[in-house]
Amino acid sequence: MAKATSVTIVNVGYRSTNYWVVSAGTSRLLVDIGWPGTLGIMKANLRKMGIPLCEIRCAFATHYHIDHAGLAEELKREGVPLLVLDVQVDAIPIMKRWTKPQDRYVEITAEGNLVIPCAQSRQFLSQIGIAGEIFHTPGHSDHCVSLLLDDGSAFTGDLPPETYAFDNPVALGSWRLLRAHGATRVYPAHGAVRPMDETSGD
Ligand SMILES: [Zn+2]
Repeated sequence: MAKATSVTIVNVGYRSTNYWVVSAGTSRLLVDIGWPGTLGIMKANLRKMGIPLCEIRCAFATHYHIDHAGLAEELKREGVPLLVLDVQVDAIPIMKRWTKPQDRYVEITAEGNLVIPCAQSRQFLSQIGIAGEIFHTPGHSDHCVSLLLDDGSAFTGDLPPETYAFDNPVALGSWRLLRAHGATRVYPAHGAVRPMDETSGD
C-alpha cells in the first residue's frame, strides 16, 4: 500500500532571500536557486542542513530575476536539472541584462532544461514523490509561478502580499487562484512564513 510520504520544508537561504528545499524523504526539490556567484554559500548551507546535493532531484525558480535563479546553470553542472515552466522560457535570456561582470553570473542555457506547462506539473512532481502543483501566478512579473503543495503550503516567490497589492489586480487574481486551490500558508522568497491573509478573502 503506497502512502504519500509527508513533505518537509527547509530554508537554505541567505542574503535576505529564502531558498526552500521541499523533501519527500530523500527526494528533494529546490525552490529558487541562489544569487549569481554564490555556489559556495549554497553548498555550505545545504551541508549545514544535512541535505546532500545529489538528493536534489531538480531545481526551479519562481521567476527569472537574479536573486531567484542566479545559480541555475551552475547547479545544472553539479547534476541538478532545471525545471522550467513554459511561461518562463522567454524571461530566461533577459536575466543577463541585470547582471554585472563582477556578479560572476553563469548564463542559463537551454541545454538539459526540463520545460513543461503548468498543467503537467502535478504529474511531474508526483514522479519525485511530491504532492502538489505549480500555478502561473503573475503580479510581480508576468512569468512568475508558485508551487502549491497539497498540504496548503504555497511558495509564492515575490508575489506582493495581498495587503499591499490593492492596486495590483493581477496579483490579487493570483492570490485568489492559490486560495481557491487550498493555499493556507505562504512561504515567500523574502521574509517570514505567514498564514494566508484571511481578512481579504472573498
Ligand atoms: Zn526577489
